[in-house]
Amino acid sequence: MIEQVWPNIYKIEIPLPGNPLRFTNSYYIHGIDRSLLVDNGFNCEESRSVMNEAIYTLGIDMTKTDLFITHLHADHSGMTEYLASPTSRVFMSYEDGTAVLASQNINYWEKLNDFMQFSGLIKAGVENNTEQHPGRLYGTAYFKNLTPVKEFDHIVVGDYSFQCIMTPGHTEGHVCLYEPIHHLLLCGDTILGKITPNISLWEIGKVDVLGQYLQSLDKIERFAVDVVLPGHRHIIYDCRERIQQLKAHHQKRLDEVLCLLRYGSTNATDIARKMNWDLSIKKWDEFPWAQKLFSTGEAMSHLYNLYRQGQTLITKSNDGIYYFDQI
Ligand SMILES: [Zn+2]
Repeated sequence: MIEQVWPNIYKIEIPLPGNPLRFTNSYYIHGIDRSLLVDNGFNCEESRSVMNEAIYTLGIDMTKTDLFITHLHADHSGMTEYLASPTSRVFMSYEDGTAVLASQNINYWEKLNDFMQFSGLIKAGVENNTEQHPGRLYGTAYFKNLTPVKEFDHIVVGDYSFQCIMTPGHTEGHVCLYEPIHHLLLCGDTILGKITPNISLWEIGKVDVLGQYLQSLDKIERFAVDVVLPGHRHIIYDCRERIQQLKAHHQKRLDEVLCLLRYGSTNATDIARKMNWDLSIKKWDEFPWAQKLFSTGEAMSHLYNLYRQGQTLITKSNDGIYYFDQI
C-alpha cells in the first residue's frame, strides 16, 4: 500500500514474508533535483516486486534518487544493492555500513555461533544453524557509493532539510532523520507504536546497548516532534508519550529479570525462556528459531545493563556465561 503522509512524502508498505513484523515502511521523499528513499525491505522476490510496483506508480527515477538506510537490518537495507543506480548515493552510518561490508564474509556469521554457545541456546537444544538468520537470508550484497553520515549532517530534499541524529541501541549505528521546520522524525526502529523495538546484545563487554538505547530516547525526547514516521506499523503522533511507554517497558523488563535471578545463577537463554513475551506464541519452546535468538539477545541486553548498574555479577565458564544477583 502507498500512502501520502506529508506533502511529497509517501509511505510504501513492503511485505516481509514469514516475519512477525509483517511490513517495513519505506518512505519516498520526492525532491527537485534529487529524491530520497528511506529504508527498503528484504532482498526477496515478494518484497522486490512490491517495491518495483511502487517505483512505477510513483514515477520514481532511481538515477535521481539517493537511498538512506536508518540501520543495517535486512528488513531495512536488504534491497539496497538491488535498488541503487550507479548515481545513487547510499547514506548510512559508518558503523552500520562497516557491518554490512563485514556481513559479506562468513566469519561475521560465525561469531553468532559463539553467541549461541555462551548464551545457553545450544545447551537448550536450539539448532546451531545461523543460515536461518534473516540477515543472512535476505541481506543486501555490498553496494557502491556508501556516503557515511554522522550527527547533524544535513540532507536536503525539495523543501525538507533533514538532520541526521545518531540513535544507537537498536543497532550500533542507527540513525534517525529529523526535520526541524516540519517537526517530522523518520525514526527507523528506534520508536515503534504498539510493538517495542528489539534491543539485543550479542557480545559481552563491548557496549551496554540497552543503556545506549535509553540515552537515544532521552535525546529524541528533547526534539520538537509532531509526527513520527517509524520503520514498522502505524504513524505516531505523540512522540513523548510513546517514549515514556518504551522507557517504562524496559524498566519493567529489568525488574522482571532481576526477580528471575533471585532463583539462582542462570544463563541468558533460561532468563529469556521465563520472561513474559507479548507474542501470539506464548511458549518460548515453540518460538521459531529467529525468535528464540532475538529473545535471548534481548534478555542478554537487560542482564548486561543490570551488571553495568552493579546489580548483577557475571561468571564465565566453558559452559557459557552465567549471571547471578548480588544478594
Ligand atoms: Zn531493525
